[in-house]
Amino acid sequence: MIVNRASALKPGMCGDCKPREACGVFGVVNNNGFDIARMVYFGLYALQHRGQESCGIAVTNENGVIIGHKGLGLVSEVFNDRILDHLAGTVAIGHCRYSTAGGNSIEDTQPLMANYKGGRMAIAHNGKLVNAEEIKRSLEESGAIFQTSTDSEVFANLISRYSIKSDDLEDILVKTVRQVAGAYAAVIMTRNSLIGMRDPWGLRPLCIGKLDDSIVLASESCALDAVGATFVRDVEPGEIVFVQDREIRSIRGAASGRPRHFCIFEHIYFARPDSFIDGASVYRARLEAGRILAIEHPVDADLVVGVPDSGLTAAIGYSRQSGIPYGEALIKNRYVGRTFIQPQQKMREQSVDIKLNALKEEIEGKRIVMIDDSIVRGTTTKKLVQMLKNSGAKEVHMRISSPPVKFPCYFGIDISAENLIAAKKTIEEIRKNMGADSLGFLSVEGLMKTPVGARETGFCAGCFTGKYPINQETKNRSVE
Ligand code: SF4
Repeated sequence: MIVNRASALKPGMCGDCKPREACGVFGVVNNNGFDIARMVYFGLYALQHRGQESCGIAVTNENGVIIGHKGLGLVSEVFNDRILDHLAGTVAIGHCRYSTAGGNSIEDTQPLMANYKGGRMAIAHNGKLVNAEEIKRSLEESGAIFQTSTDSEVFANLISRYSIKSDDLEDILVKTVRQVAGAYAAVIMTRNSLIGMRDPWGLRPLCIGKLDDSIVLASESCALDAVGATFVRDVEPGEIVFVQDREIRSIRGAASGRPRHFCIFEHIYFARPDSFIDGASVYRARLEAGRILAIEHPVDADLVVGVPDSGLTAAIGYSRQSGIPYGEALIKNRYVGRTFIQPQQKMREQSVDIKLNALKEEIEGKRIVMIDDSIVRGTTTKKLVQMLKNSGAKEVHMRISSPPVKFPCYFGIDISAENLIAAKKTIEEIRKNMGADSLGFLSVEGLMKTPVGARETGFCAGCFTGKYPINQETKNRSVE
């Protein structure tokens, strides 16, 4: 059931000019004597766009002991050869994080390691549980202690609680996923097995790959490509996959026939264009969004340009449909992190200049159509319009390959109501505010015509429509 609960649930942290991702997860069962630590390292490297605050790897070593290393910063900053050499083993998981729930401290860095009756485990997840606080309160009342503010610890405590009465890990995990509500793609490892779990709505992505006899789990298929693994399939919404040695077992009961609600923002912005998610190419979805945008908002112009990187593919689609040549107007400094890494608004605005520079000889005297994937706060877009005008553009026509973001996200994406320019201003007011000559957004109907929207499987577009897949009754589910 789709319900409008904009005021009932608690959104993520304050949004930036762009919505922020939640995390990337990766896991391997190594049946081929691979260098497992470096496999996870390169998998996380490919998923770095999903979270840049911290990262970690946990591995079962040759003595059957789960060890790990984690730290604040990028994958390339946290790990080096010496550390990776130490992390040899048979089963491993990894995580890169952006904190939409909890803080950004070393305690909250994942994978989280914990002991339960069945032994030691490590757990990492992407997403946000909407009933985490209720579960925490309930568990704390019965004596549980929480040391971090991550939802992974909620999973760990539930697993620990259900293991008191059962030795069967499958049974324990089924009980655990019945208890939680929200968006998650989680990887869990025990001493000898790897487990992948995806929320019953399929909000966050998780896929399965194979490299020789080794099994890999990853948030996006681009991470499988990075380690040379072949895509096998997506983990289904509500599915729990158990990987032990060469065997993959699946439990699909948790979804109970519920329609899926994949986060459509993954296709618009978060995921890498070379990823396939739930059978749909991210690249094709963006290309098509740009093509439909050109039909919905045509304009006479000399050049179509995209805002690097996530606006580029839609710009190509717009150019192909409109016949206006595609070109480059903004050059990105590849060595600067995403603007949101800066903690203060003023610093964030400054970092746009450091990150992007205008190509004056391409811009001067031209009527430019500039394509971006989305507008959240609008501050970056305003600066870019000014940058093109200062570089001699005759006209700047802004086109956005998604609908106006008017509502917050409750499922692990950092979009909160108070920062949404489209929630407070009309499109004409936004245009004036950013100084563009015209402004057009892809309509919700147009989004539905893209390869993702047109699919029968269903998706969440709550931040555009205010209609969310998870309702208040689910949020208030109490711990059994
Ligand atoms: S509300 Fe928006 S960002 Fe959040 S899960 Fe739904 S589509 Fe994704």
